[in-house]
Amino acid sequence: MSVRVRFAPSPTGNVHIGNIRAAIFNWLFARHAGGKFLLRVEDTDRERSTPEAIQTLLQVMEWLGLNYDEVPVYQAAQRARHLAAAEQLVTSGHAFRENKDGKGECIVFRMPKEGRVEYTDIVKGTIRKKAEDTQDFVIVRSDGNPVFHLANVIDDIDMRITHIIRGDDHVENTFKHIQIFRALGDEPPQYAHLPMIVNAMGKPYSKRDGAAFVGEFREQGFLPQALFNFLALLGWAPGEDREVMTRDEMVALFTLDRCKSSAARFDLKKLIWMNGEYIRQTPAAVFRAEFEARVKADGYWHTDLPAAEVDGIVALVQPRTKFYSEIPGNCAYFFTEEYPFDAKSVEKRLKPAGVPELLEAVAQRFEALPAFDHAATEAALRAMGDERGAGLGGMVHPVRVAVSGLSDGPGLFEMLTLLGRPRVCARLRRAAARLREGTL
Ligand code: GLU
Repeated sequence: MSVRVRFAPSPTGNVHIGNIRAAIFNWLFARHAGGKFLLRVEDTDRERSTPEAIQTLLQVMEWLGLNYDEVPVYQAAQRARHLAAAEQLVTSGHAFRENKDGKGECIVFRMPKEGRVEYTDIVKGTIRKKAEDTQDFVIVRSDGNPVFHLANVIDDIDMRITHIIRGDDHVENTFKHIQIFRALGDEPPQYAHLPMIVNAMGKPYSKRDGAAFVGEFREQGFLPQALFNFLALLGWAPGEDREVMTRDEMVALFTLDRCKSSAARFDLKKLIWMNGEYIRQTPAAVFRAEFEARVKADGYWHTDLPAAEVDGIVALVQPRTKFYSEIPGNCAYFFTEEYPFDAKSVEKRLKPAGVPELLEAVAQRFEALPAFDHAATEAALRAMGDERGAGLGGMVHPVRVAVSGLSDGPGLFEMLTLLGRPRVCARLRRAAARLREGTL
């Protein structure tokens, strides 16, 4: 039987990373098996499932490259079918009508009264419950609307789903679902419940922990490939410490028996690192376009920049960019003499006594160099560090903060060379003057 899996989100206008992680696992499983990955929009909550919310969902899927097969199923449109199935269950005696507290009739599904209800989960193993610990439950409300459990199962039957891969918040629901399948004469599909995504404290990851919706990661400048790769590892261990993988590698390696049942910790540092890896692998022309757009949006760009200089900046910046949104903040000094100074860095590196004098001495030494390149600037700072007993570090840090306003950045000597002697020396002298005036 060929694999048919589905992603069955309830659109709310925001797509939580836990949901999209389920989509990714379904997608990888289907592509690995050469089966079908289907989309079912569980849009029965008409207030939340607006056309905009559905649009957001489809955009997120497209952004992440989660292409689906066949025409999407919209659950609300299957209402008549859900109600007919409920009638069938009443006729066969698996369900009954009841008028609870006089509010009108609802349809209630009967759970077994003895023995156990159990199923085998590919990730979690056998999950069982005593029948006496289960309860009959409503499948059609007194207002005539089918409930989630009924709609979800009927659609899975109609879509001929073979494996249900979803978050483990549905482990309990599955006891109900398998009984509906059986009552309708169907064998339940295979289940794989994915471990919860948790924060550093082991609690469910939520928006209080940081970005939780795919759209937020996108806005922050995370690449879809990086987010995809990162989320694929939340609950899946491809083995041999593999981390950064191409999509084809992930498809080739993905199996449910390598999915873990223990909670998956959301580690933002790892995502940032991974994003940096993907940015490094991005073709230079693509990175450059993104770089330009971001610097322009921040107003630093000026049109008379020689292309070779931009190439030089891009070559320095690309290998150390972790996410695109940090570009303007990290790169202003390449474009303007009005670059901002980071207050903490100024305090630590420029405020100590003797720094203005030191910066001026460096400017003087730089001006006297026969050539202003990596080797010469480095040798000059080394020599001055020795002479002053400050070491190379004692020179590099104040110089970096003076010429860039920041403590971190690309290799100092590459940066100095790129900025060029006149700009570097003017910046050193200006920083010294401002420190003396107390305006820095
Ligand atoms: N709409 C449900 C959810 O998003 C579907 C769960 C499922 O069966 O995959 O939690």
